[in-house]
Amino acid sequence: MNKINRRQFIKSTGGFVAAAAAPAVHANGKSDYDAIVIGAGLSGLHAAMLLEENDMKVLVLEGRQRIGGRVYTLMHVPGKPEAAGEWIGGNYARMIATARKLGMDFWIPEQGGPDRGWAYEINGQFLSAQDWEKHPLNPMQGEDRSIPPHRMLWTISNKDNPLADQPLDAWLKPEFAKYDIPFDQYLRKRGYNEETIRLMDVTIHTNHISNTSALHELRRYHVNSFNAKHKFYEGNSYAQIKGGNSLLTDAMADSLKQQPLLGKTVVHFDQTSTNASVHCADGTKYTADHIISSIPMPVLRDITFSPRLPEQMQAAVNEVDYGLSMQAHFLIKKKFWEEDGMEPSIWSDRSIERFGVRNVNNEDGPPAGVAFINGEASHKYRLMSDEAIFNYVANELAEIRPSMKGALDPILIQSCERDPHGAGDWVYWKPGQIGKYAANMRERHGRIHFCGEHTAIMERGMEGAFESGERAALDVLFS
Ligand SMILES: Cc1cc2nc3c(=O)[nH]c(=O)nc-3n(C[C@H](O)[C@H](O)[C@H](O)COP(=O)(O)OP(=O)(O)OC[C@H]3O[C@@H](n4cnc5c(N)ncnc54)[C@H](O)[C@@H]3O)c2cc1C
Repeated sequence: MNKINRRQFIKSTGGFVAAAAAPAVHANGKSDYDAIVIGAGLSGLHAAMLLEENDMKVLVLEGRQRIGGRVYTLMHVPGKPEAAGEWIGGNYARMIATARKLGMDFWIPEQGGPDRGWAYEINGQFLSAQDWEKHPLNPMQGEDRSIPPHRMLWTISNKDNPLADQPLDAWLKPEFAKYDIPFDQYLRKRGYNEETIRLMDVTIHTNHISNTSALHELRRYHVNSFNAKHKFYEGNSYAQIKGGNSLLTDAMADSLKQQPLLGKTVVHFDQTSTNASVHCADGTKYTADHIISSIPMPVLRDITFSPRLPEQMQAAVNEVDYGLSMQAHFLIKKKFWEEDGMEPSIWSDRSIERFGVRNVNNEDGPPAGVAFINGEASHKYRLMSDEAIFNYVANELAEIRPSMKGALDPILIQSCERDPHGAGDWVYWKPGQIGKYAANMRERHGRIHFCGEHTAIMERGMEGAFESGERAALDVLFS
């Protein structure tokens, strides 16, 4: 590998990286690769691309039989829904630049936006969006009564958000540590009643509102609002890759000189003073000067390190969890919303939580819909077979809305933690965990570096993955 200098690297990242240590001599001639990257999700692929652009010999190992990790477009389902990373925000500078560089365009799929028409089922009563504001079930006061149930979490979290107008890394500043408390406690202190908190909990993308750090949610909506201010596609601040987000991760993998090896599940890391190795479940071993791991934290619990991880990092691996979700995808055989005159999609406080309909106008195949259940409500589905889930969801929907009886044909069940390489959807911090762990997530362990959206400081989700891949690549290049 040629030595690079800081200016060259900053140029190759498009200038997103502002600071770096002085570079040192890299390859020692004793390893097969300058760097091995574990995981062909966005963070791993971005790190690998940056390292290759800087003349490193890089190998990407991916445990699954597909590229993309938590970017996964269901290409064969009508409307090509995104089963994981969905919305690209206006401030996703690295992701947007990479997509454009690889010749991608953007789109907003029909009925895909967050503001699609919802009907609500709350405390067993089925009601139209237009009835909500004045409905006796609406637990809110004053102008808050106009906030629809599916927007309560976003809108209330953003009201007087102490992080507003702060830089995106403010959540790590000591002055905001006082918000690293249970989110329901924070809301009660702000005067919100129990029913409002209960309805907000339906939408929350963590386990439960009471074991979620308020600071985590405040950060989440702070970043979202920041993204919403930046328009990048036809006057919109959110869009997706045209044809499906998986086209981007596929193109990123294709752009690498050495194609990622699929089906390579890493089960053990070891290292000496001169190199580091990964051991895969199929018995193969690969050695490099440096390793970047993008393996999600809960999956790391099943992987061994020699020498062992530092105590603080191991504690974080053991304790930090990801929010879970379960998706049941269906074809829609009859337009039940035309039968009952209500909005096509349903948001409910019972355990099917929400059923989103797309392709209502048949522009891209027949209408289809997905029951999307997240948080604590999604746990019980881990104990059910796919068939049992389809039956349960279809029966619940028909009970809420009789016009849906016999309206659905099962397509597939998708959940990011239903296979051993996934751990859930997004990292979330429990009360007290930000103070305890957030600063340690980026620390390298000798020649092993860590990336992944859970290690990002500024952005979250897909752009957080890019940010983290860039930081880890920089760390390797200037080690
Ligand atoms: C339902 C859902 C909706 C989402 N919506 C959005 C959204 O709208 N906007 C947004 O920005 N983000 C969204 N996200 C989050 C976003 O998808 C992720 O934050 C991002 O894709 C994570 O990228 P990553 O590289 O950090 O991790 P991953 O994509 O998980 O990559 C890690 C890779 O490591 C592999 N791996 C795991 N274990 C091993 C092993 N032992 N050996 C080898 N390989 C292994 C995995 O297979 C995976 O490919 C959503 C996620 C989900 C699930």
